[in-house]
Order: sequence, then C-alpha cells, then structure tokens
Amino acid sequence: MRVIIDIDQTITQAPNFFSWLTHALRRDQHWVGIVTVRCDRESSLMTLKELDISFNILETLPLDEERDCMDWKLDTIHGLEADVVFDDWPELSHKLDPKIFVALPRDTEMGNLVYDDNDMLI
Ligand SMILES: [Mg+2]
Repeated sequence: MRVIIDIDQTITQAPNFFSWLTHALRRDQHWVGIVTVRCDRESSLMTLKELDISFNILETLPLDEERDCMDWKLDTIHGLEADVVFDDWPELSHKLDPKIFVALPRDTEMGNLVYDDNDMLI
C-alpha cells in the first residue's frame, strides 16, 4: 500500500498513533509519504523527527509554486499514486480520486464535523 499522511491537524492531532502506524506500515514493506502545504522543509523534518514518524518521502509546498496549494496537493497525491490518504482538509478529500480511501480527522477546534443542508461535509 501507498499511504499518504498530512502533518498539521492530522499527525499533530494523534502523534502517538501516527508514529506507531508509520513504523508498522514500513516494517511491513508499505510505503509512507508525508505531503504538507508547509513551505518550510527543515521545520517539517524537525516536526517529523520529534514525533518519531517513519516515512519514505516528504513533499512540502515549493516556494515558487504557482498553483494554489490545494491544486498542488491534489496533483502531488495523485502523482504519488496513493492508495490511502489521511488528511484533515475536507475540500481536498472530496476532490481526490474516488479509488483512494480517505480518512479525515475531525476538526478539533470545532469539536464536531460540520455538514451543510444536504448532509455534505463542509
Ligand atoms: Mg492539515
């Protein structure tokens, strides 16, 4: 499996779980990519080290990126041929290829997921 995980409000929301998960996945020969819209690669690497996250690659938003960050992230995730994505960005999850299994951490600032009048997650 190719598993892609976001950092902020995803790994940072359950760091012990993602530390265990990423080590278990890689121990069993699965592939783990970290994709974040953070621009600062060094601070991202430091966060992943501090939280003991095991990964194959880290993709950060390039400083000279001209697409908006959602388009960059969608293209990056699709380009990496993800099977599973963990990301707290609801709008992103709705635009990912439906073949990808998406796990969406709830918004802890809101306390609950938010739905519109059509029961669609917003
Ligand atoms: Mg996030």
